[in-house]
Amino acid sequence: MSSIFTKIINGELPAYKIVEDDQFLAFLDINPNAKGHTLCIPKKEINKIFDMEEEDYVALMRFSRKVAKALEKAVPCKRIGMSVVGLEVPHVHVHLIPLQEMDDIRFTRKTSLSVEEFEELVKSIQSYL
Ligand code: AMP
Repeated sequence: MSSIFTKIINGELPAYKIVEDDQFLAFLDINPNAKGHTLCIPKKEINKIFDMEEEDYVALMRFSRKVAKALEKAVPCKRIGMSVVGLEVPHVHVHLIPLQEMDDIRFTRKTSLSVEEFEELVKSIQSYL
């Protein structure tokens, strides 16, 4: 069965998509740690990041870096934190999280955003890509 992220890639589930190419997709996390929390995923469904082919892994980091640079300009923060967990969704994803403090990267405190705020974030991040 396809992962929920494959369903997002295929347009079977909605998402606040920011940018994609033939290999990767970036979209906003629906239950963000902090405003601007973004996920970068490979379109090829694979469970664990260190099981990726080295070339694909490096390409995912390159894609994530590009998105992180735009995110840092779009969302006021001290820096962009990066984390890979995967305990909830078994499809590789890099979390990019605008940080103000350590708790923003801890996945224990969540932020609610309106549809308008999600949509505005997508546009703002896209404007810096
Ligand atoms: P983890 O697998 O523990 O690294 O976390 C999975 C992340 O995916 C969590 O931060 C969720 O909020 C996020 N997530 C789960 N479903 C969706 C979805 N449909 N759209 C966007 N983000 C999602």
